[in-house]
Amino acid sequence: MRSETNNLEAFWMPFTANRQFKQKPRMLVAAEGMHYTTDDGRQILDGTAGLWCVNAGHKRPKIVEAIQKQAAELDYAPAFQMGHPKAFELASKLAAMAPQGMDHVFFTNSGSESVETALKIALAYHRARGDAGRTRLIGRERGYHGVNFGGISVGGIVANRKSFGTLLTGVDHMRHTHDPDRNAFTRGQPEHGAEFADDLERICALHDPSTIAAVIVEPMAGSTGVLMPPKGYLERLRAICDKHGILLIFDEVITGFGRLGSPFAADHFGVTPDLITTAKGLTNGVIPMGAVLAKKEIYDAFMTGPENMIELFHGYTYSGNPIACATALATLETYQEEGLLTRAAELDGYWADALHSLRDCPNVIDIRNMGLIGAIELSPIEGAPTKRAFQAFLDAYEQGLLIRTTGDTIALSPPLIIEKSHIDFLFDTLRNVLTNLD
Ligand code: PMP
Repeated sequence: MRSETNNLEAFWMPFTANRQFKQKPRMLVAAEGMHYTTDDGRQILDGTAGLWCVNAGHKRPKIVEAIQKQAAELDYAPAFQMGHPKAFELASKLAAMAPQGMDHVFFTNSGSESVETALKIALAYHRARGDAGRTRLIGRERGYHGVNFGGISVGGIVANRKSFGTLLTGVDHMRHTHDPDRNAFTRGQPEHGAEFADDLERICALHDPSTIAAVIVEPMAGSTGVLMPPKGYLERLRAICDKHGILLIFDEVITGFGRLGSPFAADHFGVTPDLITTAKGLTNGVIPMGAVLAKKEIYDAFMTGPENMIELFHGYTYSGNPIACATALATLETYQEEGLLTRAAELDGYWADALHSLRDCPNVIDIRNMGLIGAIELSPIEGAPTKRAFQAFLDAYEQGLLIRTTGDTIALSPPLIIEKSHIDFLFDTLRNVLTNLD
């Protein structure tokens, strides 16, 4: 079943080496369960849940049916001054499964939009309370918060920032928490590094904390190298934020919906932020949708003016899109029925053992894991960073396995429906790839 597409020029592919790809394209034409099918009929085990999003696996009948039914019933409805039942139902379900006290939900269409929305809510929240001097935002080196201007401003990935001008002003970055000298080959949370949170105190001292609106971090930093939070780090950030009246935002676009073995990373780490950004697993990646979860006090701070006034001047044409809502509801039902939100915790031991068994493969300098996430860091080829890991990606694909690379790190995040036999195939294949890599 070769793809009919022979002109690849028009599509300017995102985050892709276009010229290289178009010489030797990798084309997926179907997917079911744990596997993709390529245009030359090969089965590829999905070791990455697409882009960390297809948590329930591919082509789930309940989700397919929900989309078809919704498209035939109410295809589109505006959410500005209008409503439709599924948006309210979904928001209630999300609030019920969110950490205690996060009772309100704002719908977006992606992780990037969730980030912009959360940053804007944080700024507007302080203003609504008469604290308009709080305008500074704090992010972290190596942080990924999507690709829009707010997100790349608070984000800390140099390549994503350097081509795009001056970005937002009034942004500072804490150091990232990666400390291979002390924490290499740790299983789960690293022992060392809680003190990196004290960077926030230093930034507070530098600017005066009463000028700081919010701090945003990924509880587990996925897109740059897969970095686990050191023990005590998130708790310390929370305490510093509380001390200074700063909002804490967890970007849970990857960690939301079961990736770490609980609905949200906030549950997993026992630290509740003020705002949570989500997307990806919310709809199993099938229809674009994101959401921001907000504490009741934040929502309430906006509900004080005249009742006929719009409280927050923000929203998207597709906020709460009916088909996206129907998809999300079917996805949450699937997670619930199949116990997928806790499955990563059940598989943790088997997954970690298999992952760490690659420790002795050539060029492996670190291995990290948490929930159904694995990272294998390779030593870079001198003068050609990222090349070795990317070659591993190409070789794995040839051998029927989809992995992802970020820099010199291989990132694994399979659908949560993964069986032990798939885990065996995944790591047998990867062992073979790494053993034969230059
Ligand atoms: N935040 C985090 C933590 C992410 O991992 C991502 C995507 N990988 C985003 C934001 C952006 O999401 P999207 O690509 O849906 O805009």
